[in-house]
Amino acid sequence: MSDDDLRQAQGPTLRLGISSCLLGKQVRYDGGHKLDHFLADTLIKFVEWVPVCPEVEMGLSVPRESMRLVGAPEDPHLIALKSGIDFTDRMKTWAHERLAQLAGLDLCGFVFKKDSPSSGLFRVKVYSEHGMAARTGTGIFPREVMRAFPLLPLEEEGRLNDMPLRENFFERVFAYYRWREMLRTDPTPGGLVRFHTAHKLTLMAHSPKHYTEMGRLVAKAGTVRWAELSATYGRLFMEGLALLGTRRKHVNVLQHLVGYLKRDLASEDKQELLGLIEDYRNELVPLVVPLTLLKHHLRRSPVPEWVWQQVYLNPYPKELRLRNHV
Ligand code: SF4
Repeated sequence: MSDDDLRQAQGPTLRLGISSCLLGKQVRYDGGHKLDHFLADTLIKFVEWVPVCPEVEMGLSVPRESMRLVGAPEDPHLIALKSGIDFTDRMKTWAHERLAQLAGLDLCGFVFKKDSPSSGLFRVKVYSEHGMAARTGTGIFPREVMRAFPLLPLEEEGRLNDMPLRENFFERVFAYYRWREMLRTDPTPGGLVRFHTAHKLTLMAHSPKHYTEMGRLVAKAGTVRWAELSATYGRLFMEGLALLGTRRKHVNVLQHLVGYLKRDLASEDKQELLGLIEDYRNELVPLVVPLTLLKHHLRRSPVPEWVWQQVYLNPYPKELRLRNHV
């Protein structure tokens, strides 16, 4: 299948921000890049990247002197190493304008370059005035992104090599897209009930606690102001999905689905299916194995429409093969 055919088959292309150097652009302080083949070559078939290099876009040259974060971890300054110039205000002013542009692009996620004082998201080194470093900071630009788009899924390229984290990030990216689409096309109490129903098993696999709390919220639909209701639901939705799905929770969801097949499944087919679910529980096979057989039987049985509406069965294009590794 060509890349164009693949794009058509998988539906809308999602747009994600990315640190420019991860796409191989030579924008780093030393004139180099940090090309990430998975992001630049594999994922390009599924997403449209919007590259952003804060240091170059705010007017610095390539090459340039390197920088570091200095001061309080919760509000550090971006300082050039040799000259001592403080670029914090300049970067924040640039970020303000750039984020206004990005708001018009409907981004569904952002992948940042790890360890960078400008772009790093987690555990970036912050230096005290005495030169002691602690990995407690967030780069200046991601901090502004979080402020502007608090629900946007964010990750670093290094963490995406961890399969459960990779699967979780892209599940959140596609979930965020669907949430935004619901707000755009059907922002009503009825639309929210349908959205919540379709995500029941997805939420159960991540956080049954969030599912219950969101259910109580949805029950108030129509009696609470829409703006307040949708904002709280959206926050809980993305917060719940950010909790990693565990094998135990996935097993619960799979067994719940098997319950719909009880009367229609021959005894040996049921044993085979339950055996694969046990194999998954015991880390002998990935999630895709019992799920594929389960979907095979669901297709042949008169299950309620509710089951087929479950996003859990198809959370993102199967070509991403994310459930082959968790
Ligand atoms: S880490 Fe960020 S600031 Fe540094 S080169 Fe990459 S995109 Fe530019």
